[in-house]
Amino acid sequence: MAKLPKKPVDNWEIPPVEALRATPDTRVADIVTKGTPGFAGDKALGERLLEERGARLSALQELLYANGRSGDTRSVLLVLQGMDTAGKGGMLRHVIGHVDPQGVDHASFGVPTAEEKRHDYLWRIRKALPRNGQLGVFDRSHYEDVLVVRVHNLVPPEVWEPRYEEINTFERELVESGTTIVKVAMFVSLDEQKSRLAERLERPDKYWKFNPGDITERGFWPEYQKAYQAMLDRTSTEHAPWHVVPCDRKWYSRLAVTELLIDALEKLDLDWPPADFDIDVEKARLAES
Ligand code: AMP
Ligand code: MG
Repeated sequence: MAKLPKKPVDNWEIPPVEALRATPDTRVADIVTKGTPGFAGDKALGERLLEERGARLSALQELLYANGRSGDTRSVLLVLQGMDTAGKGGMLRHVIGHVDPQGVDHASFGVPTAEEKRHDYLWRIRKALPRNGQLGVFDRSHYEDVLVVRVHNLVPPEVWEPRYEEINTFERELVESGTTIVKVAMFVSLDEQKSRLAERLERPDKYWKFNPGDITERGFWPEYQKAYQAMLDRTSTEHAPWHVVPCDRKWYSRLAVTELLIDALEKLDLDWPPADFDIDVEKARLAES
């Protein structure tokens, strides 16, 4: 069977991988969080495209899964990193929700448990890496160990400082072993976060998302911006670059991440795995059965 035809990315003036890729000039303080970099359409078009492109994502993920079942050792890992209310949960429902759940290895990382604290910070990360042929999704990640940990001095600078290089080395090994890493840094404005938190306090269906600590963290916004800047400056590498995704408009951020995943999967250049049995023999056996 022919490979899935590669379609051009419609309605983007600049391909999302290019428009969103972090550069040495990226300044966290200057990110236009309401922006829609590279995209030429409006919300209605964006929402329609999300459905269309979600179907494409799903087809590509099935190819990855099929190949994994046939011995291919590659995988794709989406790393979602962003402040509370940036929309990480929505990314799971509305982007990853398009694909077959059995092909997804999902993990979320909160405050380390007692057991996790007894190990190196990468221990829980290594345990959660995607299996061959899987689409891995990290809701927060090892980057918390240079973000919240740095902002609150949970360990001294002598400990968090070397982590940038450790993470680069860790990710390089991962890429060399066949995992494509798609790193997405999600940015909302302080005002947008306020209105999203307000909604969590207004709506009974959103209370469960509210955590009083989220308001405390707002007081550390400049420190978080500094930590996010250092993360982009020091861990956006050739093998695992960061993508900076403005998230005030949810329809945009979801479409953008869908495109980033499609691009990563297309670059694997997957085809349907060949039959590992004699097709004619099996057809004859079936006819006689
Ligand atoms: P949520 O994703 O909303 O469930 O929140 C998870 C919380 O865990 C966030 O406040 C994170 O900052 C926090 N967290 C994640 N990883 C770490 C870590 N390594 N050390 C301390 N706090 C963390
Ligand atoms: Mg939260």
